[in-house]
Amino acid sequence: MLDNLRDAVRKFLTGSSSYDKAVEDFIKELQKSLISADVNVKLVFSLTNKIKERLKNEKPPTYIERREWFIKIVYDELSNLFGGDKEPKVIPDKIPYVIMLVGVQGTGKTTTAGKLAYFYKKKGFKVGLVGADVYRPAALEQLQQLGQQIGVPVYGEPGEKDAVGIAKRGVEKFLSEKMEIIIVDTAGRHGYGEEAALLEEMKNIYEAIKPDEVTLVIDASIGQKAYDLASKFNQASKIGTIIITKMDGTAKGGGALSAVAATGATIKFIGTGEKIDELEVFNPRRFVARILGMGDIETILEKIKEVENYDKMQKKMEEVISGKGKLTLRDVYNQLIALRKMGPLSKLFQLLPGIGMLGQIPEDQLKVGEEKMRKWLAIMNSMTYEELDNPSIIDKSRMRRIALGSGTEIEDVKELIEHYNLMQRTIKMLKRRKKDVEKLLGQFGG
Ligand code: GDP
Repeated sequence: MLDNLRDAVRKFLTGSSSYDKAVEDFIKELQKSLISADVNVKLVFSLTNKIKERLKNEKPPTYIERREWFIKIVYDELSNLFGGDKEPKVIPDKIPYVIMLVGVQGTGKTTTAGKLAYFYKKKGFKVGLVGADVYRPAALEQLQQLGQQIGVPVYGEPGEKDAVGIAKRGVEKFLSEKMEIIIVDTAGRHGYGEEAALLEEMKNIYEAIKPDEVTLVIDASIGQKAYDLASKFNQASKIGTIIITKMDGTAKGGGALSAVAATGATIKFIGTGEKIDELEVFNPRRFVARILGMGDIETILEKIKEVENYDKMQKKMEEVISGKGKLTLRDVYNQLIALRKMGPLSKLFQLLPGIGMLGQIPEDQLKVGEEKMRKWLAIMNSMTYEELDNPSIIDKSRMRRIALGSGTEIEDVKELIEHYNLMQRTIKMLKRRKKDVEKLLGQFGG
C-alpha cells in the first residue's frame, strides 16, 4: 500500500526536472496512489489543494531547499489525513483495566485479542483473556491456543450461549485473581452490514461488565467503507478506540485508515500479519514517515529543527546587541549546539542584519574548533543553572568542581569563561558601533 511513494519522494528530491514540473508530477502521483489505496476522492483532492495552497502562501525557511520544504508539507498534510498528532494512549492510566473487543466475524478479532494480551504481557502486566464470542464455535478454542502459546490464562465456558453471562463471570473471576488487564473477546456478527446488531450487542455486554475501553476491530480490506462503521461506533461509545487489522494483506489500507481518522475516532493499533507479535501502535506521523521514506523525512525534519534553533539564537543575539537582553553562558551553550552543524561561530555575526556594514569583526578569535567545542559542551553540562545564567560567580573552587565533573582541566574551564568574556566585549563593541552607525544615518535623515 502506497509503496510507490517512497520512490516518488527520492525521485522528487534528486530529480533533474524543473521544480514546478517536479511538484506537478509528484502531486499527480500522490493523487493516483491515494485513490488506488481506496482513499476517498474528495479527501484526496482536499489534501492536494491544501498542499498547493501552502506552497503558494508559505516560504521555506532560510537554508532549507524548496524541494525539501515541499516534502515536509506533503508529510504534514498526509499525517493529518491519517489522524495528525493524535497518538493513542496504549498504557492504561488505571489498574485493573478492562478492554472489550467487538467486531464483525472474520475481521481478526480473536487473533487481535491474543496479540493485545501478548503486547501487554511483554510490558509487564498481568493479563487475562475472556472468550465470550459465542457465535463462532471455534473462537474459544482458538483463544485458548493463543493463551497457551503466550502464557496468558483464558476464561471460557464451552457450550454456553449467553455471551453477557460469560463476559460478566470471566471479568469477575480475573478481578478476584488480581489481574491487571482483562481483555474480553465478544460475539462477532456475520459479515459487514450487521453493524446495528453488533452495536446493540455491544451495549448489553457493556452494561454488564462496564469496561474501561471498548475497541472495535476493523478489517482493512473494507477500505473507505470503514467510515460508516467507525462513525456509528464513535457516536455510540465515548471510550471507544479502533484497531485496523490485515494492513499487510490489502491495497485498501489507506482508505480504511483515512476513513476512520476522518470520523475523529482514535486508531490505537494496526495489525500487520497473522503472527502474535504483528501488532503496531498506530502513530500517524511515524506511519507517514515510513511511507515516504524514513531516512529522507528524518533528515529534512532534523534540518528544519536546526534552522529553527539557529534562528532562535540569531534573534537572541539581535536582542543582546540592541540592548534588550543579556548574554549568558546558557546562550553560548545553545549557540554552540545550534552552530555545530550550521558552520563556524563567526557566521552568526555575519548573518545579523545590519552588522555586515559595521566593519570587520574579530572573526579568527571567535572561531571554535570541533575538539574544543566538545570539551566546552561537557564543561557546560557540568555547570549548575545558576552558573550558566551568571558566570561571574564561577570562582576557583567552582572551576575545580566543574573540571572534575566534566573530565577536563581547570585551564579548559578558564578558557571557556574567557571566550564568554570575549563575546561580551564583542557585543559591547557591536552595540557601540551600532549606535555610531545609527547616529551617522540619523544625520542623513535615514
Ligand atoms: P474473528 O472471527 O474476527 O475472531 O477472526 P480471527 O481472529 O479468527 O481471524 C480471521 C483470520 O484473519 C485469521 O486467519 C487470522 O490469522 C487473520 N488475521 C488476523 N489479523 C491479521 C492481520 O493483521 N494480518 C493478516 N494477514 N491476517 C490476519
